[in-house]
Amino acid sequence: MTITTAHRLNKLQPSPTLAMNAKARALEAKGIPVLSLSVGEPDFPTPDYVKEAAIAAIHDNFTQYTAVDGIAPLKAAIQEKFKRDNQLTYAGNEIIVTSGAKQAIANALCAILNPGDEVLIPAPYWVSYPDMVILAEGVPKLIHSDHTQQFKITAEQLEAAITPRTRVFMINSPNNPTGMIYSAKELKALAEVLLRHPQVIILSDDIYEHLIWSDNAFANVLMVCPELKDRTIVINGASKSYAMTGWRIGYAAGPAEVISQMKNIQSQTTSCPNSIAQMAALAAITGPQDSIKTMNQAFRKRHDFLLQALNTLPGVECISAQGAFYLLPNFNAWLKDNPKYESDVQLAEDLLTEAKVATVAGTPFGAPSCIRLSFASSMETLEEAIQQLQVFME
Ligand code: PMP
Ligand code: GLU
Repeated sequence: MTITTAHRLNKLQPSPTLAMNAKARALEAKGIPVLSLSVGEPDFPTPDYVKEAAIAAIHDNFTQYTAVDGIAPLKAAIQEKFKRDNQLTYAGNEIIVTSGAKQAIANALCAILNPGDEVLIPAPYWVSYPDMVILAEGVPKLIHSDHTQQFKITAEQLEAAITPRTRVFMINSPNNPTGMIYSAKELKALAEVLLRHPQVIILSDDIYEHLIWSDNAFANVLMVCPELKDRTIVINGASKSYAMTGWRIGYAAGPAEVISQMKNIQSQTTSCPNSIAQMAALAAITGPQDSIKTMNQAFRKRHDFLLQALNTLPGVECISAQGAFYLLPNFNAWLKDNPKYESDVQLAEDLLTEAKVATVAGTPFGAPSCIRLSFASSMETLEEAIQQLQVFME
């Protein structure tokens, strides 16, 4: 007998970033070395003071279920973080700790969307957004942008995309996969449009907030337009800022009604975030922040190297990024010269199997003809990867 699974899942894809990482690991398990520029996670270790806090939590037997929405000291530290970094004040019932920012986004969408509600997603976008919307029975609606507009949408594009069915607008800056940052001025222009459409809830994914190694300043839509506070949910987490992807701690701040429903979802699905990881995240958020600086210095150097090197490859065009650890070169001209390749998806497959460089195709990010490269890997890896790309492409 074949078991049929839920219709809701028919359009759901496995995460292409994680899938590519799994393929690279499978090759490595066979003894084939792969240069990994695919998955987006810092290549730095979690800082020692964070690890020590987790070890202490284990020794203290802090190993039981916690409050569904996170332990009180961590929530207090998150409230402080919002005041310190974003000049935003939240009450305790406006904050929830989750098992990664990914779960915060998925739960927020589940808490907000009714079947058929439209969610506006500027493209290029993080691969998981459309699928999370589908899982919550919403309808993803893309707003396109490409390198000619710095991969950022304009206020006019946002205005044109909003319909009476629009329920959510998602924004991610610094952005995965482009590394672009919306300036305060650009956010203000988007906020002015949003003010005219009170039915639209804003989901601001700030996970790369601290990974800014350029001269750009971080802002989110609420910091430039506090009037939107009663309909904005801010997402953030420990994964990227503190090299803690495996610990799985994220958080959300927003209107109490939404946070309370996210808490209900969590209480019926995961119970609470991991107790030990919460103690680690508490140490990370309240402890010295020097490790962020160290990572950013490395990211800047690697970005500058990779950008210059990519632009010397035949038929490749790459614009500079400002934050996060991604570049999104456009292979359009190379693909035209190599008609054997139908798309970036096929190219990314061959880059892995032939050049032994793991990347992620642009198409699942809403960036056809592009390839996403993560420079969260050592300079030596990047140098070797460029050499192997050069040989493959020429
Ligand atoms: N948002 C974006 C844009 C991301 O790139 C990621 C990557 N992991 C996440 C959210 C989720 O992060 P995590 O679940 O590890 O906190
Ligand atoms: N956000 C990272 C990436 O884009 C991690 C993998 C994932 O969760 O998709 O590579």
